[in-house]
Amino acid sequence: MANLGIPKNSIAVLQKYEFVFQKKFGQNFLIDPHVLEKIIRASGVTKEDFVLEIGPGIGTMTQYLAEAAREVCAVEIDRNLIPILEETLADYDNVTVINEDILKVDVAKLAEEKNGGRPIKVVANLPYYITTPIIMGLFESHVPLESITVMVQKEVADRMQTGPGSKDYGALSLAVQYYAEPYVAAHVPPNCFIPRPKVGSSVIRLTRHKKPPVEVKDEALLFRLIRAAFNQRRKTLQNSLANAGALPFAKEEIARALEAMELPPSVRGEALSLEQFAKLSDLLAGEQK
Ligand code: SAM
Repeated sequence: MANLGIPKNSIAVLQKYEFVFQKKFGQNFLIDPHVLEKIIRASGVTKEDFVLEIGPGIGTMTQYLAEAAREVCAVEIDRNLIPILEETLADYDNVTVINEDILKVDVAKLAEEKNGGRPIKVVANLPYYITTPIIMGLFESHVPLESITVMVQKEVADRMQTGPGSKDYGALSLAVQYYAEPYVAAHVPPNCFIPRPKVGSSVIRLTRHKKPPVEVKDEALLFRLIRAAFNQRRKTLQNSLANAGALPFAKEEIARALEAMELPPSVRGEALSLEQFAKLSDLLAGEQK
C-alpha cells in the first residue's frame, strides 16, 4: 500500500471508499510526511515498543508506527474506517485494529496482554473534542505508561506545559505536570490536515514521571484543591476554596494555612506552583475531620 503521508495517496483512498468525514469524531487526517516523521521521532518509539494508537483514521500514522515499533494496536471508533484500515494496513502483520471508543477500552488489560504489563507508549493525533478526558484517563487509571505523544490543539499544549504567572496556567497544567514532563516537539499549521481544522495544532510528548515531583498525604485532596482554585479564576484563592461546595474547610482554616506558607490573603490560585499546592494540601489535610 502506498504511503498515505503523501496527500494524493490519502485522497485516492478517501475517494475510492467515498468516505464522509464525521465532525462529531474530530476527523482531521494528517497529510504531511515531515510532520508524521517528527511525531515518530518525538515519541522515541523503537522496535522494542508496543504502541497504542488512538484514532488511526485511514491508517496514515499507523503505517509509520508499524515501521518503527514492534507492535501497534490502533483503536478507532468509526466503523466506516474499519474496511479502509484493512486495506491500508494489509502489508503489516504487527498491527491490530480494534473498533471501539477508546474511553471504553481497558488499556491496562491491553498492556498486560500485549506487553507483559510493561509500560507502553501512546501515540495519537487526537480527536480534539475529548483530548483532556483521554489524557487524564490514561494518567489517573493504573495503566503502565511510559509516554504519551499526541497532536492536540495548540492552545491545549500551551496550557499543559506552562507554569504560574501565565494566562494559560490552570488545573490542566498542574494535573499534567503532576504526572508527566511535557515537551512540545512541533507546531503544526491547519494546511497539514484534510479537512483543515480551524485552529493550529502542536505535538506534545508527556513523559510519565517514575514518581510524582511532589509527595502529598492525600492525592485526592490535592486535586480537589486545584480544581476549586481555578473554578472561579477572578476570586482570591481563599474565597475560591472557602466557597467550594466539595471542600470542608472554613475560611479561617484556609487563611491560617496561607499564612503558614507566607502567602498574602489576596493571593490567587494562578500564582501557586505545584509544590505550593502540595504544601497547602498537606496543611489542610491536618484540618480535615
Ligand atoms: N490518526 C489519523 C491521522 O493522523 O490522520 C486520524 C486523526 S483524527 C484527528 C482523529 C481520529 O480519532 C478519527 O479517525 C476519529 O474517528 C477517531 N476517534 C474519535 N473519537 C474516538 C474515540 N472516542 N475512540 C477512538 N477513536 C476516536
